[in-house]
Amino acid sequence: GDPFLSVRDLRVRFATEDGEVRAVDGLSFDLERGRTLGIVGESGSGKSVTNLAVLGLHDPRGTTVSGRVTLDGQELLGAPRKRLEKLRGAKMSMIFQDSLTALSPYYTVGRQIAEPYRKHTGASRHRARQRAVEMLGRVGIPQPQRRVDDFPHQFSGGMRQRAMIALALVCDPQLLIADEPTTALDVTVQAQILDLLKDLQRQTGTSIVFVTHDLGVVADVCDDVLVMYAGRCVETGTVRDILKTPEHPYSWGLLSSIPRLKAPVDVPLRPIPGSPPSLLDPPPGCPFHPRCAFRDEVAGDRCATERPQLLLTGARGSACHLDGDRKRAIFADRIRPA
Ligand code: SF4
Ligand code: MG
Repeated sequence: GDPFLSVRDLRVRFATEDGEVRAVDGLSFDLERGRTLGIVGESGSGKSVTNLAVLGLHDPRGTTVSGRVTLDGQELLGAPRKRLEKLRGAKMSMIFQDSLTALSPYYTVGRQIAEPYRKHTGASRHRARQRAVEMLGRVGIPQPQRRVDDFPHQFSGGMRQRAMIALALVCDPQLLIADEPTTALDVTVQAQILDLLKDLQRQTGTSIVFVTHDLGVVADVCDDVLVMYAGRCVETGTVRDILKTPEHPYSWGLLSSIPRLKAPVDVPLRPIPGSPPSLLDPPPGCPFHPRCAFRDEVAGDRCATERPQLLLTGARGSACHLDGDRKRAIFADRIRPA
C-alpha cells in the first residue's frame, strides 16, 4: 500500500533582500508506519525547514513551498489552516530542541498537556487532568500528581523537555517529528528520552522523523536514514547501510565525526574541512564539490559542472558521480569495521 508519510519533490524557497534562498531543493522520501527515519546533516542543510513545511508550520510570508506531501493519503501541502491545526493536535505532533518555544509560561504544565487531549477526545476536565498526570509519569517526571500544577519555570530544563514530549504524545500521534529533541540535554537525560521514544513507538506504532546531527543517536533509534546536504538528499538507506557502508563522500565525512565511543565503525576522527555552501548562490555541479576529497577520482570536471542525481536501487541510493565500484574500494580501504 501507500507509505504512511510521503514527500515528493519538496521545494522550499525564501525570498530575502539578497535574493532567493533554496532551503529545500527537490526532496523526496517515504516513511512507513512504526518506523523511524533519521534526517541527518549539518545545520543549515534544510532538515528543520523540511519538517516545518511538512507540518505546515513555516512562516508563509516570503516562503514558497511546492511538491507533494501526503499523510495517510491526505494531502498536507496547501491544506486549509484549520485542517492542519486539527491534524497537528491529533494525528501528528512535534518535539523541538527548545522546550521554551513549545510551552507557554502562563499556564500550568498539566493544563497545557490536558487541553489538546480534551479537545481531541472530548474527555472531561477531570479525565484530561488524569491523563496529564499519567503522561508526566510516563516521561519520567517524579511525583507527577504534585508537579502537574507547576508552571514551566518551576521545572528544570530536562523536565521541561520531558513535559514537551508528554505534550507531543498525549493524543497518541501517528506521526511524530522530533527535531534535535535531546541536543540541549545532558547525556543521561538524553539516553532516557531516547529509550522513552522507543518504548512509546513499540506501544503505539508511531512513525517518527528524527532530525539530528548526531550519528550516535541515529545508530540508537533509527531504522532508515536520509542524509541532507544543501537542501537535498545526498544519500538514503537503512541505518545499517549508512553507518556500515556509506556511499556518498559527505556521509563518509559525517561518519568520521562520530565520537569513537559510540562509533559503529572504526573511522578516524576528522571534521569535514570547509563549510556548507550558501543556498543563495549554490555552487554549480555537485553542491559538495568544494569540500569533497574524492572529486579528483571523477573523470573530467563533472563534479564542478554536472549535478549528480539521486540514483535509487530500492530504498538505497546516493547522488554522486563517483563510480560505484571505485567508491566501494576507496571506502573499504578507509573504513574498517570495529
Ligand atoms: Fe564528491 Fe564529485 Fe561525488 Fe560530489 S559528485 S560527492 S564532488 S565525488
Ligand atoms: Mg535545525
